[in-house]
Amino acid sequence: MKSIWNGNSVWATVLLSVGLAGAGEMHAIIPRPEKMSVAEGSYTIDSGTVIRISPASRELREIGNYLSGLLGPASGLNVPVKSSWFPKPGGIALTLDRQRKDLGDEGYTLTCTGKGVTIVAAKPAGLFYGVQTLRQLLPVKIESQQKVEGVAWQVPCVMIEDKPRFKWRGYLIDPARNFRTKEELKRYIDLLALHKMNIMQLHLTDDQGWRVEIKRYPKLVEIGSRLPDYGGRKGEGWFYSQADIRELVAYAAGRYVTLVPEIEMPGHCGAVFPAYPELACGGKRPGGWAEPLCVSRDSAEDFATNVLDEVIALFPSPYIHVGADEVPVGPWRKCATCKAAMEQLGKTPLPAEVTVFRVKVSASAGVPFHEDIGRLQGEFIRKIDRYITSRGRQMVGWDEILDGGLKTGSAAVVMAWRGAGAVGGSCGQGHEVIVSLHPDYYLDNDTSLQRTYDYEPVPKDLPPDQAKYVIGVQGNMWGEQTQTARHVDWRTFPRLCAIAETGWTVPGNRDFRDFQQRLVPLKARLDTLGVNSVRP
Ligand SMILES: [Zn+2]
Repeated sequence: MKSIWNGNSVWATVLLSVGLAGAGEMHAIIPRPEKMSVAEGSYTIDSGTVIRISPASRELREIGNYLSGLLGPASGLNVPVKSSWFPKPGGIALTLDRQRKDLGDEGYTLTCTGKGVTIVAAKPAGLFYGVQTLRQLLPVKIESQQKVEGVAWQVPCVMIEDKPRFKWRGYLIDPARNFRTKEELKRYIDLLALHKMNIMQLHLTDDQGWRVEIKRYPKLVEIGSRLPDYGGRKGEGWFYSQADIRELVAYAAGRYVTLVPEIEMPGHCGAVFPAYPELACGGKRPGGWAEPLCVSRDSAEDFATNVLDEVIALFPSPYIHVGADEVPVGPWRKCATCKAAMEQLGKTPLPAEVTVFRVKVSASAGVPFHEDIGRLQGEFIRKIDRYITSRGRQMVGWDEILDGGLKTGSAAVVMAWRGAGAVGGSCGQGHEVIVSLHPDYYLDNDTSLQRTYDYEPVPKDLPPDQAKYVIGVQGNMWGEQTQTARHVDWRTFPRLCAIAETGWTVPGNRDFRDFQQRLVPLKARLDTLGVNSVRP
């Protein structure tokens, strides 16, 4: 087989076992649509093709322009976008029909006859996803940034009706450990759109770096973005200015991707202390990494809420992620005020309005629960939860927030990572939960494609009135070992394609063999887009 697959065992297993000859390009859509029927014939996009939006609106015009931009480089066509009150036959019609409530916020229908393509949706997001399906119905060469001669830009005749299973279809990227430039983030936003994924979680802060400008605390980036990264390279001011963030938010919005900021607290805060040592336990810069905020003093909460104020102003996301994972055991026990606070809490019963759920930690991920640490962390996180709610947003945290306890009625969203028990535990308490389990959905490891694909995020024994709290899935691309975007590409794909399908496609339509066949043309599409598939 072709040597280009050497070096990526995941791709190699897939493609060698299927064989290129077995799969056709046409109709191979990932994530697989809910309903699709295929007919004879095709429609050819050529110099006579027009994109018609109806009704005229800024959002529809932007989707039309986006589609025209997708078609332009490879075909050499400048497909015009025109608006019309009523859909007209011929060309590519993008039609909003608010009566089609059955399609939900993100569903669409796509009909291709010999005369043209019609995409209908109740909301603009649905039209955008219909465009992504149209894209995958076209020859893969359409992704080329250079003009391609001798290809007929044919769309096979089909009828598709489609909508997503989950509202959260996420990807975490980690510029804190190894910085990713603004342009690199835009490229990943584009790749998420191709997979109908709609959330990019930005892990903006950690022990190795602080990557977002906060005006009130200028030293966070002046010092915190110049620390050595995970690989030990000297920092060079690796951060996003507030203008950069606004640019990224707008870029993502144009692709129906929400950027969810993650600001880690009270652990994974090491990049704070070289800049503001007074926030550490003992009031001075700690010697090691992975130190927590000194949460027994009011200054920690002031710092956190002041930072969150600016983050909330920058990111329109309804969700604000505060990490809250892996608080180290040592520092609070050695700190006079934290120790006193934990002793005091130890003598006090947990407030009646607080419910805890102790996540059973798997052997491979997470640290065991410690009552003293968990109580103090719980107090802090509940204050932050209340603050974020008061600002009209929903707090998201890793599943440690269940251990420390959440207040009854809290709108906090749990990101389950340490074990499937966290999914059931969240649902049982009525907390929305996103399934991003280690190792199945961790992209920075060697988990097999089939294991990732076959993982079912909703536990089988969960009653439907609890299962509804599972709002989605997420692939986490932790950045410790990925120094360059080429490393990130190699780790992210093709497992992210599998997670995208789990997030979108109804379980009855998921089949690993069928997925492998559809992955062959998607691989060619990703190659054409310049996605690296070999170990750098
Ligand atoms: Zn302390």
